[in-house]
Amino acid sequence: MKLKDKVAVITGAASGIGKEIARTFAAEGAKVVIADLNQAAAEATAKELGGDGKALGVSMDVTNEDQVEAGMAKVISTFGRIDILVSNAGIQTVDPIVDFPFAKWKQLLSIHLDGAFLTTRAALKQMYKQGDGGSVIYMGSVHSKEASPLKAPYVTAKHGLIGLAKVVAKEGAAHKVRANVICPGFVRTPLVEKQIPEQAKELGISEDDVVKKVMLKDTVDGEFTTVEDVAAAALFFASFESNALTGQSLVVSHGWFMQ
Ligand code: NAD
Repeated sequence: MKLKDKVAVITGAASGIGKEIARTFAAEGAKVVIADLNQAAAEATAKELGGDGKALGVSMDVTNEDQVEAGMAKVISTFGRIDILVSNAGIQTVDPIVDFPFAKWKQLLSIHLDGAFLTTRAALKQMYKQGDGGSVIYMGSVHSKEASPLKAPYVTAKHGLIGLAKVVAKEGAAHKVRANVICPGFVRTPLVEKQIPEQAKELGISEDDVVKKVMLKDTVDGEFTTVEDVAAAALFFASFESNALTGQSLVVSHGWFMQ
């Protein structure tokens, strides 16, 4: 088992990519914390993954400083330590810049960037105290490297996470804390299901064309990336034990974006 007795906090883990990462980490022996805005779904996921002693559901809005601090304190009082943080909670909105409501812009940046900062700060404090290293993983996107129309705050936030990861890699190095970013292509989760009709409306094309001519157009094989693909990349970063692999971003996108 690659993560035996490691404690992993995964935000946004009550659904989609985060949930599959939690399942993969648990299968590798980690104690997993499902930190999510959706408390009922977080608790149900924790139960599904073994419940008491193995998995913990924590209600947490990652944009709220008090909730992040309280949630991380609960993790430490329950499991005694934090070895891995996966900052994954996120949303998507689709609007051209000229029509973008300021409130929606701020909400998206806050979930992706304030959420990453607040959870990182709390996790690093504990990892530094433990003194035996740790792994911080940010859920970026191909949109950490590329732009698409209609996604201004999302592209901005996802680019920003690469900057944060590089700073954490530099500051964390002396404490053996590594930081890396996973950049998935389109994965068919609720976040993507929601935007297919939204993009069809904005672009004036069919939903089928959104999938084929927008989302998967530049992949090498017309395939969606899967939650399992992304979880495998997360396991690779989480279980890599040295500072040799830090400050990096890995694109998992069926070749949509090639570096
Ligand atoms: P999802 O909608 O299935 O899951 C997102 C989860 O985040 C939900 O459980 C939701 O309750 C939670 N969440 C939302 N706001 C929160 C908040 N303020 N505090 C705590 N939790 C909150 O979406 P997903 O597709 O699994 O996305 C997960 C991450 O992967 C996001 O950061 C997203 O940007 C990124 N991503 C997704 C894709 C894709 O195609 N699905 C591609 C690249 C990157």
